[in-house]
Amino acid sequence: MIIYHNPTDLSAYLDRQVAKGCRVGFVPTMGALHEGHITLVRQCRAAVDLTVASIFVNPTQFNDARDFQKYPVTIDADIHQLVRAGCDVLFLPDVASIYPEGTAGLPSYDLGYLEEILEGKYRPGHFQGVCQVVDRLLKAVNPHQLFMGRKDYQQCMVIKKLLELTGRNTSLIVCDTIRENDGLAMSSRNKRLDPEQRKLAATIYRVLSGMRESLAPGPLQSLISEGVRILEAAGFRVDYVEICRADNLEPQANWDGHTPLVALVAAFLGEVRLIDNLALAD
Ligand code: AMP
Repeated sequence: MIIYHNPTDLSAYLDRQVAKGCRVGFVPTMGALHEGHITLVRQCRAAVDLTVASIFVNPTQFNDARDFQKYPVTIDADIHQLVRAGCDVLFLPDVASIYPEGTAGLPSYDLGYLEEILEGKYRPGHFQGVCQVVDRLLKAVNPHQLFMGRKDYQQCMVIKKLLELTGRNTSLIVCDTIRENDGLAMSSRNKRLDPEQRKLAATIYRVLSGMRESLAPGPLQSLISEGVRILEAAGFRVDYVEICRADNLEPQANWDGHTPLVALVAAFLGEVRLIDNLALAD
């Protein structure tokens, strides 16, 4: 695996490979890699000739400074996992090479209502930060295909919008959520849970599965309130439990019996914020 720290060197290398006919796939990450990330790398490898992963903990997408400071960093283990998974290139930039002009006055993106609901509402500025970094990473890598996880459902929609706004010729491939045996969605932040919290964390998946089982045409409020109740009883501080249209994330109060839906949860255990989602009807 070749490691590039500098975007210009990376672009020059990738341009040479593309000129030879290589198709490039890209898996952006913030590191502290787990099987969810590695599955994206494997899917990327299966689809293209050259797999590029990046590790960059982007300061501009953290609305909570403490979350940024505490974000797990396990770079040696990450490199080892990427090599084992057959990743061809790792892009490992520092903040100055992604934002040479600093992080003040960066462009903003018109994401419409996606910025006002769910993660957009509870993490102001988060999706602007995500777009700022992904826009720059895409400029450096210019991939044919971009691989992202459904675990971050709203982020996938935001990136689809970013690709439209920037007119990039990159297709977004959304990969299924990889879970632990008890259903907990794999996440770098799980590393910050203590053993007791780690056991409780699987409640999120039980709540989502319960919502899927209980879904029936008609009002959805009781399903949502029951989800909040179970999470709070387990000790979570709930940001939201929502049921939304799967295609555009509009929150839904009633179900007509056939519109595809997704349930989404964001909740804190201690100071660790976890998110997850599950298709209810597809
Ligand atoms: P992150 O390092 O958390 O920014 O995630 C990098 C990419 O991995 C994003 O596209 C995530 O959606 C994806 N990802 C994170 N966790 C999972 C998971 N459990 N299953 C599948 N993809 C995931």
